[in-house]
Amino acid sequence: MRNLEEGDFQRRDRAMHPPAFTPVYKSTYLRAPRHALLSLEQSIGDKTGPVFGQGHLNPLDNDLILNYARPGEEAIGERIVVYGHVMDEFGRPVRNTLLEVWQANAGGRYRHKRDGYLAALDPNFGGCGRCLTDDEGRYFFRTIRPGPYPFPNNGSDWRPAHIHFSLFGEAFAQRLVTQMYFEGDPLIALCPMVNGIPDPAARERLVARLDMAEMVPFDSLAYRFDIVLRGRRSTFFENRPEGL
Ligand code: FE
Repeated sequence: MRNLEEGDFQRRDRAMHPPAFTPVYKSTYLRAPRHALLSLEQSIGDKTGPVFGQGHLNPLDNDLILNYARPGEEAIGERIVVYGHVMDEFGRPVRNTLLEVWQANAGGRYRHKRDGYLAALDPNFGGCGRCLTDDEGRYFFRTIRPGPYPFPNNGSDWRPAHIHFSLFGEAFAQRLVTQMYFEGDPLIALCPMVNGIPDPAARERLVARLDMAEMVPFDSLAYRFDIVLRGRRSTFFENRPEGL
């Protein structure tokens, strides 16, 4: 196997992914490629930067309860903290990487012009946040638990409550994207997107655990979601590049 230069693409392991065409998930009728895939050469622009530092972030960027709220007001919903470690395949911390999250509000509605779900928008909730991992690879953000929402698939299927995650890495080509679910949610087992992931253990690793040791008394419950970039215990990434 060739050595990868920093920022290089790694080839995707397609066996870990659902087939591009997965009939129970109706959108794949339109999204699945109809021709053989082509590999593109990487350019220097794909392999370098950008580099993020603490100076690029605002103090409230990892506080979704406050970062969109009017002064003196807060987002409505079940208050939670979500934290975890970002690790490589040997459990070593991945430091100073930009982690971005986006989610629906407590009623299951996104602040997005294409979201037509009838649940109300919360004027104090934007639904986006970001932070950098620290020297131990830890991240932390505060938010409200998102609601489940319906989507048109076999009539009306439902997405379990979830938070979308992006890890930026060191170059544009390294960005990884996944979704986090909540322990005990009965909708996880019914979701055609979750069930599109072939390996049950990989599905399980997307479920954050309730962690009462880290709850904030009289304030917030805590959920722990560790992210592993590669190896046998790798987190499932929607766009997972693989090859090592
Ligand atoms: Fe979503």
